[in-house]
Amino acid sequence: MIINGKKFAQNLKNNIKREIKFLKIKKKIVPGLTVILIGNNTPSEIYVRNKEISAQEVGINSKVLRFKNSITEKKLISIIHNLNNDKKVHGILVQLPLPQHINGSKIVEEINPNKDVDGFHPINVGNLSSGKDSLVPCTPLGCYLMIKSIKKDLTGLNALIIGRSNLNGKPMAQLLLKENCTVTISHSKTRNLKELCKKADIVFAAVGKPNFVKGNWVKKGSIVIDVGINRINQKNGYKIVGDVDFKSVVKKAKAITPVPGGVGPVTIACLLSNTLKAFKNN
Ligand code: NAP
Repeated sequence: MIINGKKFAQNLKNNIKREIKFLKIKKKIVPGLTVILIGNNTPSEIYVRNKEISAQEVGINSKVLRFKNSITEKKLISIIHNLNNDKKVHGILVQLPLPQHINGSKIVEEINPNKDVDGFHPINVGNLSSGKDSLVPCTPLGCYLMIKSIKKDLTGLNALIIGRSNLNGKPMAQLLLKENCTVTISHSKTRNLKELCKKADIVFAAVGKPNFVKGNWVKKGSIVIDVGINRINQKNGYKIVGDVDFKSVVKKAKAITPVPGGVGPVTIACLLSNTLKAFKNN
């Protein structure tokens, strides 16, 4: 089964849209999302534009605040504090990467954890790791929902996480642990990765290396989630590939996410879902 991320995301968005429509009629209020974009990094511009379009599509009141690269950390913090106090703003997202003179961790900590729709605030990270309800980073949340749509009960399954980033690997491990999987987190210093992979019922690859996971690494019937977005130069331009060698792995896996059209669209849908959750929590 090739998991159609676009279709999966559309279903999620339809449900969110229905709920927001209901809120608008009954409560005369809609969730608000503010994205802060600094500088003129082209991929960030594209991501933010896609987030804005999707938010509008489901009826979220979305706003993008754009600032020059030269904005000071102090000024950015004061903008975040204003958004924290704004009753019409339920979700705040600071698009990464930030300019070098701005401390990313410090900025995340200034966001009200209840409005932290990226799920990066230490309070949300802590709540997730202690099994409490929290705002969960959008990419692993989307991957989790896709896995659950294929197999409801994950109890006892071996899950291999490749990559230990705070953005992807670590939160994914927490989500699968909560589902009673036996989770192995691997990284660049891991030995015998291929052997670990062969034992995994679920493989989650967030490495940032094109076609890294090969067909002869994966167990027959496994679920393979490919988070990677890698640009490969070609004669006539470039193409985007994942961290999984799709051609060989698709022959072994029970289910696999393609790149593009897999995890990417679902990540954006999960941002909308987190905004709705933040709205309800507030
Ligand atoms: P990251 O912060 O660069 O982390 C990469 C991880 O891979 C690190 O933990 C690193 O280990 C590990 N790694 C590197 N080489 C390895 C090896 N040979 N064997 C095992 N592990 C290895 O990456 P990230 O932010 O998680 O992103 C990963 C990929 O996902 C990128 O391609 C990114 O563009 C993509 N991405 C996609 C989405 C989406 O919506 N689809 C969202 C975010 C990111 P160490 O910790 O030891 O260095």
